[in-house]
Amino acid sequence: KSNEFQQMIEAHTLAANFYSHLLLNTVEGEKALHYLEQRGFSREHIEKYGIGWSLDDREVLTQLLMRKKFDMKEMELAGLCIMKNDGTGYFDRFRGRIMFPLHDDNGNVVAFSGRTLSESKEEAKYLNSPETPIFEKSRLLYNFHNARLNVRKTGKVILFEGFMDTIAAERAGIMNSVAVMGTSLSDIHLNKMKRIANQLIICCDGDNAGWDAAKRFAVLSNQKGLDAKIALLPGKMDPDEYISTFGGDSFAEKVIGNPHSYMSFIMAYYKRSKNLSHENDVLQYIHEVLEELASKVSPVERDLMIRQLTAETGVSSNALNEQLMKKVGKLAKQEK
Ligand code: ATP
Ligand code: MN
Ligand code: MN
Ligand code: MN
Repeated sequence: KSNEFQQMIEAHTLAANFYSHLLLNTVEGEKALHYLEQRGFSREHIEKYGIGWSLDDREVLTQLLMRKKFDMKEMELAGLCIMKNDGTGYFDRFRGRIMFPLHDDNGNVVAFSGRTLSESKEEAKYLNSPETPIFEKSRLLYNFHNARLNVRKTGKVILFEGFMDTIAAERAGIMNSVAVMGTSLSDIHLNKMKRIANQLIICCDGDNAGWDAAKRFAVLSNQKGLDAKIALLPGKMDPDEYISTFGGDSFAEKVIGNPHSYMSFIMAYYKRSKNLSHENDVLQYIHEVLEELASKVSPVERDLMIRQLTAETGVSSNALNEQLMKKVGKLAKQEK
């Protein structure tokens, strides 16, 4: 079995080198290289992250793997090749995409994520390797092997939704960031971060999906006993867009350097969709925030949040506290 793993990793390493060569040294890779440059990728970052280009060809990688005598059934299992419908052979899974190698904790390439260059909505923006014996989404954190040392040194880890954001963050001098592959954060991910960090800064995209992801991530981290703060972006930007627009220094100082506590984030979260000059929205907002406060214990935090609520809604702190105590009482009863 370990031989099977070894073969799969060797094939991925070979593929990554091949893709990288196609991007950096061939005419076919020029368009992709240009695209990356436009997005702010330096040559140094392209090389550091092992980024490449998969030709728009059905079987260049398949043929390379065959020439190197890899077992093609295994290559299919590894997610690099797909069997033709008529069973007469294989073709490449990734074609015409910018290739981002995904590394395991030891720095081995175990999978790929391929980004299309086309803006058409018909084609999936990213195509990832399937789950294989060497790649589990719920285990892999993008950039973990690179960031590990810096995370240990600072005690802090920054968590993004997309690996593009991790690469962009390096332009802001942030060397302790990782990203999930998609939007779910697993128990394994959390344990991994907890072992080497005591503080987590969650920085998700500024769109609705990103706000919801940030809330989910924060709740899960708190349950794990990880001290999680949430960094917020203006508008609907994502970290990469923010860095391209306002620069790395601004990102490091204003966004990552100024993260919100869970409760402060929660207030922003509920306030976002409301108009506080409408009474209904005010009532709903107070209800939602007090529900959260009722299950929190720190009296100092309660006091701070009540004061902020008073400032925002004009409702007296006495009334808010009374309402809060009712909710706390209800919770206590439910627990009995
Ligand atoms: P870009 O800046 O190139 O548009 P992004 O990182 O901003 O990329 P998002 O749409 O915000 O991309 O998605 C965040 C993450 O979610 C991606 O890194 C990827 O892992 C995952 N993802 C997004 N779209 C898809 C998809 N169609 N299939 C699989 N995974 C996807
Ligand atoms: Mn997004
Ligand atoms: Mn994004
Ligand atoms: Mn983006």
